[in-house]
Amino acid sequence: MTLDRARALIPGGVSSPARAFGAVGGDPVVAAAGEGAYIVDTDGNRYIDYIQGFGSVILGHADPRVTEAITAAVARGGATGLASEAEVALAELIVGRVPSVERIRFVTSGTEASMTAARIARAATQRDVIVKFEGCYHGHSDAFLARAGSGVATFAVPMAAGVPQASVADTIVVPFNDCTALEKVFADRSGDIAAVFVEPVAANMGVVAPDPDFLRAVVDLARDAAAISVFDEVVTGFRVGPHGAQGEMHADLTMFGKVIGGGLPVGAVGGRADLMDLLAPLGPVYQAGTYAAHPHAMAAGAAVLSALAPRDFATLEALAMRLFEGLASAARDVGADASVVRANTFGCVFFASEPPRDFAGSNATDKEGFARFHRALRSGGVLIAPSPFEAWFPSLAHTADDIDRTVDVARSAFAAAR
Ligand code: PMP
Repeated sequence: MTLDRARALIPGGVSSPARAFGAVGGDPVVAAAGEGAYIVDTDGNRYIDYIQGFGSVILGHADPRVTEAITAAVARGGATGLASEAEVALAELIVGRVPSVERIRFVTSGTEASMTAARIARAATQRDVIVKFEGCYHGHSDAFLARAGSGVATFAVPMAAGVPQASVADTIVVPFNDCTALEKVFADRSGDIAAVFVEPVAANMGVVAPDPDFLRAVVDLARDAAAISVFDEVVTGFRVGPHGAQGEMHADLTMFGKVIGGGLPVGAVGGRADLMDLLAPLGPVYQAGTYAAHPHAMAAGAAVLSALAPRDFATLEALAMRLFEGLASAARDVGADASVVRANTFGCVFFASEPPRDFAGSNATDKEGFARFHRALRSGGVLIAPSPFEAWFPSLAHTADDIDRTVDVARSAFAAAR
Protein backbone atom coordinates (compact mmCIF):
# COMPACT_ATOMS: atom_id res chain seq x y z
CA MET A 1 0.00 0.00 0.00
CA THR A 2 1.20 3.50 -0.79
CA LEU A 3 0.62 4.59 2.80
CA ASP A 4 2.79 1.87 4.33
CA ARG A 5 5.60 2.81 1.99
CA ALA A 6 5.02 6.48 2.74
CA ARG A 7 5.09 5.95 6.51
CA ALA A 8 8.37 4.05 6.30
CA LEU A 9 10.05 6.85 4.41
CA ILE A 10 8.28 10.14 5.11
CA PRO A 11 7.59 11.24 8.71
CA GLY A 12 3.93 10.49 9.39
CA GLY A 13 3.58 9.47 5.74
CA VAL A 14 2.92 13.09 4.75
CA SER A 15 4.97 16.03 3.53
CA SER A 16 2.90 18.60 5.42
CA PRO A 17 1.16 18.03 8.77
CA ALA A 18 -2.06 19.53 7.40
CA ARG A 19 -2.39 16.33 5.33
CA ALA A 20 -2.30 14.05 8.38
CA PHE A 21 -5.60 12.75 9.72
CA GLY A 22 -4.53 12.42 13.36
CA ALA A 23 -6.97 15.09 14.50
CA VAL A 24 -10.01 13.37 12.96
CA GLY A 25 -8.98 9.70 12.91
CA GLY A 26 -8.44 7.42 9.96
CA ASP A 27 -5.65 7.13 7.45
CA PRO A 28 -4.52 10.06 5.33
CA VAL A 29 -6.18 10.17 1.91
CA VAL A 30 -3.61 9.41 -0.77
CA ALA A 31 -4.66 11.36 -3.83
CA ALA A 32 -4.41 9.74 -7.23
CA ALA A 33 -5.98 12.58 -9.20
CA GLY A 34 -7.99 15.73 -8.94
CA GLU A 35 -10.85 16.09 -11.43
CA GLY A 36 -12.79 19.33 -11.23
CA ALA A 37 -14.72 19.26 -7.97
CA TYR A 38 -13.50 15.74 -7.19
CA ILE A 39 -10.54 13.88 -5.73
CA VAL A 40 -9.96 10.24 -6.58
CA ASP A 41 -7.76 8.38 -4.12
CA THR A 42 -5.43 5.45 -4.69
CA ASP A 43 -8.10 3.03 -3.39
CA GLY A 44 -10.44 4.25 -6.12
CA ASN A 45 -12.70 6.29 -3.81
CA ARG A 46 -14.16 9.41 -5.37
CA TYR A 47 -14.87 12.38 -3.13
CA ILE A 48 -16.54 15.74 -3.61
CA ASP A 49 -13.55 17.79 -2.56
CA TYR A 50 -13.58 21.00 -0.54
CA ILE A 51 -9.84 21.03 0.22
CA GLN A 52 -9.11 22.06 -3.38
CA GLY A 53 -5.38 22.30 -2.78
CA PHE A 54 -6.07 24.30 0.40
CA GLY A 55 -7.75 26.90 -1.75
CA SER A 56 -5.21 26.98 -4.54
CA VAL A 57 -7.40 25.71 -7.39
CA ILE A 58 -10.37 28.06 -7.63
CA LEU A 59 -11.42 26.76 -11.07
CA GLY A 60 -11.36 23.19 -9.74
CA HIS A 61 -8.74 20.51 -10.30
CA ALA A 62 -7.20 20.11 -13.76
CA ASP A 63 -9.18 22.87 -15.39
CA PRO A 64 -8.40 22.48 -19.12
CA ARG A 65 -7.43 26.16 -19.53
CA VAL A 66 -4.85 25.83 -16.78
CA THR A 67 -3.62 22.42 -17.85
CA GLU A 68 -3.12 23.70 -21.38
CA ALA A 69 -1.14 26.73 -20.19
CA ILE A 70 1.04 24.56 -17.97
CA THR A 71 1.62 22.01 -20.73
CA ALA A 72 2.69 24.74 -23.13
CA ALA A 73 5.03 26.18 -20.48
CA VAL A 74 6.51 22.73 -19.77
CA ALA A 75 7.33 22.38 -23.46
CA ARG A 76 9.45 25.51 -23.15
CA GLY A 77 11.52 23.96 -20.35
CA GLY A 78 11.71 24.34 -16.60
CA ALA A 79 13.46 27.00 -14.57
CA THR A 80 15.71 29.08 -16.78
CA GLY A 81 17.31 31.25 -14.14
CA LEU A 82 16.17 34.25 -16.17
CA ALA A 83 13.34 36.75 -16.27
CA SER A 84 10.29 35.67 -18.28
CA GLU A 85 7.36 37.05 -20.21
CA ALA A 86 5.05 34.88 -18.06
CA GLU A 87 5.95 36.64 -14.81
CA VAL A 88 5.33 40.05 -16.37
CA ALA A 89 1.94 38.87 -17.60
CA LEU A 90 0.98 37.64 -14.13
CA ALA A 91 2.35 40.81 -12.49
CA GLU A 92 0.15 42.91 -14.82
CA LEU A 93 -2.91 40.84 -13.96
CA ILE A 94 -2.37 41.34 -10.22
CA VAL A 95 -1.17 44.95 -10.16
CA GLY A 96 -4.04 45.90 -12.47
CA ARG A 97 -6.60 44.51 -10.03
CA VAL A 98 -5.38 45.29 -6.53
CA PRO A 99 -5.16 49.07 -6.11
CA SER A 100 -2.65 49.01 -3.22
CA VAL A 101 -0.19 46.89 -5.19
CA GLU A 102 2.13 48.99 -7.33
CA ARG A 103 4.96 46.46 -7.62
CA ILE A 104 5.16 42.74 -6.99
CA ARG A 105 7.90 40.18 -6.39
CA PHE A 106 7.19 36.46 -6.92
CA VAL A 107 8.52 33.75 -4.63
CA THR A 108 7.60 30.07 -4.35
CA SER A 109 5.39 29.92 -1.26
CA GLY A 110 3.33 31.97 1.15
CA THR A 111 5.99 31.26 3.76
CA GLU A 112 8.59 33.05 1.68
CA ALA A 113 6.18 35.89 1.01
CA SER A 114 5.83 36.62 4.73
CA MET A 115 9.60 36.33 5.27
CA THR A 116 10.17 38.86 2.50
CA ALA A 117 7.40 41.19 3.68
CA ALA A 118 8.85 41.20 7.20
CA ARG A 119 12.32 41.93 5.89
CA ILE A 120 11.10 44.85 3.77
CA ALA A 121 9.14 46.26 6.71
CA ARG A 122 12.06 45.94 9.09
CA ALA A 123 14.42 47.58 6.62
CA ALA A 124 11.99 50.38 5.83
CA THR A 125 11.28 51.23 9.45
CA GLN A 126 14.65 50.32 10.98
CA ARG A 127 12.63 48.53 13.66
CA ASP A 128 12.36 44.86 14.58
CA VAL A 129 9.01 44.10 16.17
CA ILE A 130 6.35 42.21 14.22
CA VAL A 131 2.78 42.20 15.52
CA LYS A 132 0.60 39.27 14.51
CA PHE A 133 -2.74 37.87 15.62
CA GLU A 134 -3.30 34.67 17.51
CA GLY A 135 -4.53 31.88 15.24
CA CYS A 136 -3.44 33.65 12.06
CA TYR A 137 -1.00 31.64 9.99
CA HIS A 138 1.65 33.24 7.82
CA GLY A 139 3.68 30.17 6.88
CA HIS A 140 6.26 28.23 8.79
CA SER A 141 9.20 30.58 9.18
CA ASP A 142 10.50 30.99 12.74
CA ALA A 143 9.23 34.46 13.59
CA PHE A 144 5.65 33.63 12.58
CA LEU A 145 5.23 30.35 14.44
CA ALA A 146 4.24 32.11 17.63
CA ARG A 147 0.69 30.97 18.47
CA ALA A 148 -0.15 30.29 14.85
CA GLY A 149 -3.19 28.61 13.33
CA SER A 150 -3.43 25.82 10.72
CA GLY A 151 -1.34 22.69 11.50
CA VAL A 152 0.30 24.41 14.48
CA ALA A 153 -3.13 24.65 16.09
CA THR A 154 -4.39 21.26 14.82
CA PHE A 155 -1.59 19.43 16.59
CA ALA A 156 -1.47 21.88 19.53
CA VAL A 157 2.22 22.54 18.96
CA PRO A 158 2.79 24.86 21.96
CA MET A 159 5.76 26.80 20.65
CA ALA A 160 7.21 24.93 17.73
CA ALA A 161 10.31 22.98 18.73
CA GLY A 162 13.45 24.11 17.00
CA VAL A 163 12.36 27.74 16.93
CA PRO A 164 14.97 29.67 18.94
CA GLN A 165 13.48 31.91 21.58
CA ALA A 166 15.40 34.77 20.01
CA SER A 167 13.52 34.32 16.72
CA VAL A 168 10.19 35.05 18.34
CA ALA A 169 11.47 37.62 20.84
CA ASP A 170 10.39 40.36 18.46
CA THR A 171 6.99 38.84 17.65
CA ILE A 172 4.06 40.24 19.61
CA VAL A 173 0.85 38.22 19.44
CA VAL A 174 -2.53 39.90 19.94
CA PRO A 175 -5.98 38.26 19.93
CA PHE A 176 -7.74 38.59 16.55
CA ASN A 177 -10.55 41.16 16.55
CA ASP A 178 -9.26 42.75 19.76
CA CYS A 179 -8.85 46.45 18.93
CA THR A 180 -8.27 47.39 22.56
CA ALA A 181 -5.34 44.98 22.93
CA LEU A 182 -3.93 46.20 19.63
CA GLU A 183 -4.21 49.83 20.70
CA LYS A 184 -2.40 48.99 23.91
CA VAL A 185 0.45 47.28 22.07
CA PHE A 186 0.83 50.31 19.84
CA ALA A 187 0.63 52.66 22.82
CA ASP A 188 3.37 50.71 24.64
CA ARG A 189 5.68 49.84 21.75
CA SER A 190 4.89 52.24 18.93
CA GLY A 191 8.52 53.18 18.28
CA ASP A 192 9.59 49.50 18.02
CA ILE A 193 6.94 48.12 15.67
CA ALA A 194 8.04 47.43 12.11
CA ALA A 195 4.86 45.78 10.87
CA VAL A 196 1.50 44.34 11.73
CA PHE A 197 0.52 41.22 9.81
CA VAL A 198 -3.11 40.19 9.49
CA GLU A 199 -5.22 37.74 7.51
CA PRO A 200 -8.07 40.07 6.45
CA VAL A 201 -10.38 37.10 6.86
CA ALA A 202 -8.77 34.59 9.19
CA ALA A 203 -8.73 31.20 7.49
CA ASN A 204 -6.44 29.14 9.68
CA MET A 205 -8.47 28.96 12.92
CA GLY A 206 -11.50 27.95 10.97
CA VAL A 207 -12.92 30.95 9.17
CA VAL A 208 -13.22 34.03 11.38
CA ALA A 209 -14.38 37.26 9.80
CA PRO A 210 -12.99 40.56 11.04
CA ASP A 211 -15.32 42.76 13.11
CA PRO A 212 -16.35 45.86 11.16
CA ASP A 213 -13.69 48.17 12.64
CA PHE A 214 -10.89 45.71 13.12
CA LEU A 215 -9.03 45.96 9.80
CA ARG A 216 -9.44 49.72 9.79
CA ALA A 217 -7.81 49.81 13.25
CA VAL A 218 -4.92 47.64 11.99
CA VAL A 219 -4.25 49.97 9.06
CA ASP A 220 -4.74 53.21 11.01
CA LEU A 221 -2.68 52.21 14.04
CA ALA A 222 0.15 51.05 11.78
CA ARG A 223 0.04 54.25 9.77
CA ASP A 224 -0.03 56.48 12.85
CA ALA A 225 2.99 54.66 14.27
CA ALA A 226 4.84 54.84 10.92
CA ALA A 227 4.75 51.02 10.86
CA ILE A 228 3.89 48.86 7.84
CA SER A 229 0.50 47.15 7.49
CA VAL A 230 0.76 43.75 5.83
CA PHE A 231 -2.38 41.98 4.64
CA ASP A 232 -1.83 38.28 4.17
CA GLU A 233 -4.13 37.55 1.25
CA VAL A 234 -2.59 34.15 0.51
CA VAL A 235 -6.07 32.66 0.99
CA THR A 236 -8.34 35.64 0.33
CA GLY A 237 -6.55 37.08 -2.72
CA PHE A 238 -8.68 36.46 -5.82
CA ARG A 239 -10.80 34.13 -3.66
CA VAL A 240 -13.28 36.37 -1.85
CA GLY A 241 -13.64 38.72 -4.80
CA PRO A 242 -11.84 40.17 -7.81
CA HIS A 243 -9.72 42.51 -5.68
CA GLY A 244 -9.14 40.33 -2.62
CA ALA A 245 -10.40 41.19 0.85
CA GLN A 246 -8.82 44.59 1.44
CA GLY A 247 -11.44 46.60 -0.46
CA GLU A 248 -11.17 50.29 0.34
CA MET A 249 -8.49 49.67 2.92
CA HIS A 250 -5.08 49.85 1.38
CA ALA A 251 -2.43 47.76 3.04
CA ASP A 252 1.16 48.91 2.62
CA LEU A 253 2.18 45.39 1.62
CA THR A 254 0.06 42.44 0.53
CA MET A 255 1.00 38.78 0.39
CA PHE A 256 -0.43 36.42 -2.20
CA GLY A 257 -0.20 32.69 -2.90
CA LYS A 258 -2.56 29.84 -3.71
CA VAL A 259 -5.01 31.12 -6.38
CA ILE A 260 -2.35 33.15 -8.20
CA GLY A 261 -0.39 29.95 -8.89
CA GLY A 262 -3.29 27.87 -10.18
CA GLY A 263 -2.21 24.92 -8.03
CA LEU A 264 1.52 25.26 -8.70
CA PRO A 265 4.00 26.50 -6.07
CA VAL A 266 3.82 30.25 -5.70
CA GLY A 267 3.90 33.17 -3.32
CA ALA A 268 4.21 36.88 -3.85
CA VAL A 269 4.60 40.10 -1.98
CA GLY A 270 3.39 43.33 -3.46
CA GLY A 271 2.61 46.85 -2.38
CA ARG A 272 3.80 50.43 -2.31
CA ALA A 273 6.48 51.11 -4.87
CA ASP A 274 8.78 52.87 -2.40
CA LEU A 275 8.73 49.82 -0.13
CA MET A 276 9.03 47.25 -2.90
CA ASP A 277 11.94 49.09 -4.46
CA LEU A 278 13.93 48.41 -1.31
CA LEU A 279 14.34 44.87 -2.66
CA ALA A 280 17.61 43.88 -4.31
CA PRO A 281 18.81 44.65 -6.94
CA LEU A 282 17.40 48.18 -6.49
CA GLY A 283 17.78 48.32 -2.73
CA PRO A 284 19.51 46.60 0.18
CA VAL A 285 16.80 44.06 1.12
CA TYR A 286 17.85 40.62 -0.06
CA GLN A 287 15.42 38.07 -1.46
CA ALA A 288 16.20 35.47 -4.10
CA GLY A 289 15.19 32.06 -5.42
CA THR A 290 16.25 29.59 -8.09
CA TYR A 291 12.57 28.81 -8.58
CA ALA A 292 11.16 32.27 -7.86
CA ALA A 293 8.53 33.18 -10.48
CA HIS A 294 8.81 29.65 -11.84
CA PRO A 295 7.60 29.77 -15.45
CA HIS A 296 5.12 26.90 -15.02
CA ALA A 297 3.52 28.52 -11.98
CA MET A 298 3.44 31.92 -13.68
CA ALA A 299 1.71 30.40 -16.72
CA ALA A 300 -0.81 28.58 -14.52
CA GLY A 301 -1.51 31.71 -12.49
CA ALA A 302 -1.94 33.89 -15.56
CA ALA A 303 -4.35 31.33 -17.04
CA VAL A 304 -6.44 31.39 -13.85
CA LEU A 305 -6.54 35.16 -13.47
CA SER A 306 -7.29 35.63 -17.18
CA ALA A 307 -10.14 33.14 -16.91
CA LEU A 308 -11.65 34.71 -13.77
CA ALA A 309 -14.23 37.34 -14.65
CA PRO A 310 -16.04 39.41 -12.00
CA ARG A 311 -19.21 37.39 -12.67
CA ASP A 312 -17.34 34.21 -11.67
CA PHE A 313 -17.06 35.56 -8.14
CA ALA A 314 -20.83 36.08 -8.13
CA THR A 315 -21.26 32.50 -9.35
CA LEU A 316 -18.88 31.19 -6.71
CA GLU A 317 -20.58 33.23 -4.02
CA ALA A 318 -23.98 31.84 -5.04
CA LEU A 319 -22.57 28.29 -4.84
CA ALA A 320 -21.04 29.08 -1.46
CA MET A 321 -24.37 30.44 -0.20
CA ARG A 322 -26.14 27.32 -1.38
CA LEU A 323 -23.54 25.18 0.38
CA PHE A 324 -23.21 27.00 3.69
CA GLU A 325 -26.91 27.84 4.03
CA GLY A 326 -27.66 24.21 3.19
CA LEU A 327 -25.20 23.06 5.84
CA ALA A 328 -26.69 25.42 8.42
CA SER A 329 -30.20 24.15 7.78
CA ALA A 330 -29.02 20.52 7.77
CA ALA A 331 -27.44 21.14 11.19
CA ARG A 332 -30.69 22.70 12.44
CA ASP A 333 -32.75 19.81 11.02
CA VAL A 334 -30.95 17.31 13.22
CA GLY A 335 -30.40 19.60 16.22
CA ALA A 336 -26.61 19.68 15.89
CA ASP A 337 -24.78 22.25 18.00
CA ALA A 338 -22.95 23.73 15.03
CA SER A 339 -22.47 27.14 13.52
CA VAL A 340 -21.70 27.67 9.87
CA VAL A 341 -19.56 30.60 8.78
CA ARG A 342 -19.26 31.98 5.25
CA ALA A 343 -16.91 34.71 4.06
CA ASN A 344 -18.24 35.49 0.57
CA THR A 345 -17.00 32.45 -1.30
CA PHE A 346 -15.55 30.13 1.35
CA GLY A 347 -16.33 29.13 4.90
CA CYS A 348 -16.37 26.41 7.52
CA VAL A 349 -18.39 24.57 10.13
CA PHE A 350 -17.67 25.01 13.83
CA PHE A 351 -19.06 22.71 16.47
CA ALA A 352 -20.19 25.51 18.77
CA SER A 353 -23.45 27.40 19.13
CA GLU A 354 -21.86 30.75 18.21
CA PRO A 355 -19.24 31.44 15.55
CA PRO A 356 -15.88 32.19 17.20
CA ARG A 357 -14.43 35.69 17.00
CA ASP A 358 -10.87 34.71 17.83
CA PHE A 359 -8.55 31.78 18.41
CA ALA A 360 -9.66 31.20 21.99
CA GLY A 361 -13.22 30.79 20.70
CA SER A 362 -12.16 28.55 17.85
CA ASN A 363 -10.01 26.43 20.13
CA ALA A 364 -12.93 25.97 22.53
CA THR A 365 -15.20 24.40 19.88
CA ASP A 366 -16.06 20.70 20.09
CA LYS A 367 -13.20 19.03 18.24
CA GLU A 368 -14.44 15.51 18.95
CA GLY A 369 -17.75 16.44 17.36
CA PHE A 370 -15.87 17.79 14.37
CA ALA A 371 -13.87 14.55 14.13
CA ARG A 372 -17.06 12.45 14.08
CA PHE A 373 -18.55 14.79 11.49
CA HIS A 374 -15.41 14.55 9.35
CA ARG A 375 -15.39 10.76 9.41
CA ALA A 376 -19.07 10.58 8.49
CA LEU A 377 -18.59 13.04 5.62
CA ARG A 378 -15.64 11.05 4.36
CA SER A 379 -17.51 7.78 4.39
CA GLY A 380 -20.33 9.54 2.55
CA GLY A 381 -17.90 10.67 -0.17
CA VAL A 382 -17.29 14.27 0.91
CA LEU A 383 -13.75 15.38 1.65
CA ILE A 384 -12.90 18.38 3.80
CA ALA A 385 -9.57 19.26 5.40
CA PRO A 386 -8.83 16.99 8.38
CA SER A 387 -8.86 19.78 10.96
CA PRO A 388 -11.41 22.04 12.64
CA PHE A 389 -9.01 24.91 11.96
CA GLU A 390 -9.14 24.73 8.16
CA ALA A 391 -11.61 26.16 5.65
CA TRP A 392 -13.92 24.63 3.04
CA PHE A 393 -13.26 25.84 -0.50
CA PRO A 394 -16.03 25.32 -3.04
CA SER A 395 -14.66 25.86 -6.56
CA LEU A 396 -16.13 27.00 -9.84
CA ALA A 397 -16.14 23.33 -10.88
CA HIS A 398 -18.67 22.42 -8.16
CA THR A 399 -22.21 22.16 -9.49
CA ALA A 400 -25.45 22.80 -7.66
CA ASP A 401 -25.89 19.03 -7.70
CA ASP A 402 -22.49 18.51 -5.99
CA ILE A 403 -23.52 21.03 -3.36
CA ASP A 404 -26.92 19.43 -2.77
CA ARG A 405 -25.37 16.00 -2.45
CA THR A 406 -22.87 17.44 0.03
CA VAL A 407 -25.68 18.88 2.11
CA ASP A 408 -27.49 15.52 2.10
CA VAL A 409 -24.38 13.71 3.31
CA ALA A 410 -23.77 16.46 5.87
CA ARG A 411 -27.28 16.06 7.32
CA SER A 412 -26.51 12.51 8.42
CA ALA A 413 -22.95 13.49 9.34
CA PHE A 414 -24.30 16.17 11.69
CA ALA A 415 -26.55 13.53 13.25
CA ALA A 416 -23.55 11.21 13.61
CA ALA A 417 -21.53 13.99 15.24
CA ARG A 418 -23.92 14.51 18.16
N1 PMP B 1 -0.60 32.67 4.78
C1 PMP B 1 -1.80 32.10 4.85
C2 PMP B 1 -2.99 32.94 5.19
C3 PMP B 1 -1.95 30.74 4.59
O1 PMP B 1 -3.16 30.17 4.68
C4 PMP B 1 -0.80 29.97 4.25
C5 PMP B 1 -0.88 28.49 3.95
N2 PMP B 1 -2.04 27.84 4.16
C6 PMP B 1 0.43 30.62 4.21
C7 PMP B 1 0.50 31.96 4.46
C8 PMP B 1 1.67 29.87 3.89
O2 PMP B 1 1.71 29.52 2.56
P1 PMP B 1 2.58 28.29 2.05
O3 PMP B 1 1.97 27.06 2.62
O4 PMP B 1 2.51 28.39 0.57
O5 PMP B 1 3.98 28.52 2.57
